[in-house]
Amino acid sequence: MSEPRVRDVLQLQPQQQIVTVHGWVRTKRDTKNVTFFELNDGSCLSNVQVIFDRSENAPLAELDRAQTGASVRVTGTVEASPGKEQSVELHGTALEVIGEAPADSYPLQKKRHSFEYLREIAHLRPRTNTFGSIARVRNALSTAIHGFFQDRGFIYVHTPIITASDTEGAGELFQVTTIPLDALARSKDPEVAYEKDFFGRPAYLTVSGQLNAEVYALALEKVYTFGPTFRAENSNTSRHLAEFWMIEPEVAFCDITCNMDLAEEFVRHILRHVLDDCAEDMAFFDKRIHPGLLESLRHVAESPFRRISYDEAVEQLEASGVEFEYPVSWGSDLQSEHEKYLTEVVYKEPLIVTDYPKEIKAFYMKLNDDERTVRAMDVLVPRLGEIIGGSEREDRYAVLERRIAEMGLAPENYWWYLELRKFGGAPHSGFGLGFERLVQYVTGMQNIRDVIPFPRTPKNAAF
Ligand code: ATP
Ligand code: MN
Repeated sequence: MSEPRVRDVLQLQPQQQIVTVHGWVRTKRDTKNVTFFELNDGSCLSNVQVIFDRSENAPLAELDRAQTGASVRVTGTVEASPGKEQSVELHGTALEVIGEAPADSYPLQKKRHSFEYLREIAHLRPRTNTFGSIARVRNALSTAIHGFFQDRGFIYVHTPIITASDTEGAGELFQVTTIPLDALARSKDPEVAYEKDFFGRPAYLTVSGQLNAEVYALALEKVYTFGPTFRAENSNTSRHLAEFWMIEPEVAFCDITCNMDLAEEFVRHILRHVLDDCAEDMAFFDKRIHPGLLESLRHVAESPFRRISYDEAVEQLEASGVEFEYPVSWGSDLQSEHEKYLTEVVYKEPLIVTDYPKEIKAFYMKLNDDERTVRAMDVLVPRLGEIIGGSEREDRYAVLERRIAEMGLAPENYWWYLELRKFGGAPHSGFGLGFERLVQYVTGMQNIRDVIPFPRTPKNAAF
């Protein structure tokens, strides 16, 4: 029979029933007559407190071996706890140390460690309160995301990770090859023999599943992807990773307004879900990581998002009189400092900005009648700036063909994408939500490297 989790034990009515639990010792305290343990097994933030009388019958040798960090199995009776932190505690009768953790070398001592230090021990950091909570919230968010789409008839499509096309045209690609680079470096031939490479052509890790998702949207109407994406962007920021997960819904017969409605309903649904489902972990983030978090998320979950055009955004920024690091004028891309200023200072709430200049957006976005702007929509939130980037897609064959050429892309790579406009095309839209940005937003964590189990960033792929 499987042993109960700590989470289940903490829900029990104290009736001196005997239970056996296992987990890791978070802290241990000895007095002359008793030993106290805090035991955690990751099932929830709380520990179960275990108390052993150091009497003759006590497992004294095991009690001494069970240091902070050790994995143990404990049997005891469930008793009412006099402490106000928990309603029950265990009075230990048997103890088995499963894996010792020598006190002089265990890297997670009781004191608070910096997140920078914890990144260096990524193999142990999930055993801290913060990283345990992040893992549980991340899990709840993924479940909520699938639930949201599944409830609305979306089909989950698995788009490829290796691809020959650069969706964003931004050139931030990791190349995938079986050509031995060392041999290449020694060879005198300046040309790379791609016909001999694994795929017979240059190939890359995907930066987005969108183009493939569009194929399925134009057959199944409502689809989404949720998978890893890769960007070799050499930006050492607190909101960029080289490997991150992206959620990309794509919907046929849906224009930019329908797309904005979906994005807004989606974000608000996810927030409500996690506030309800992860109350203990969320209270922890509110108390320890970002005071005011809960109130701000509840507010966002309950209020409609303001929608403004890029024109208005630029007017606001120009009128602000603020000296930004990157000056703004019509035509310039909004940097995170601008995005944050708009959502934190000007509007003080999440914001959807639409109709960006075509030059700063991807080739596939639908051109407006003004021929200067495209039907893009970015969702900006306080603390982070952009969390979602989306658009209505160009569904006119001739315009798309022209845009591919204008952007200097190779049309032969996009023949199938163009054909979607030739055979039964339809207006369609979608967006990409960076999963780690969402986790960051929800937990209040400052650095994106701390909301993914094993971050990959420039010069860092350890663990
Ligand atoms: P940014 O300007 O912030 O770099 P972007 O315009 O490059 O974002 P998109 O190409 O629109 O982003 O990607 C869709 C979403 O993916 C973004 O809204 C963001 O949430 C997320 N995202 C983009 N790049 C990264 C990254 N390097 N690490 C983590 N998430 C990212
Ligand atoms: Mn980017």
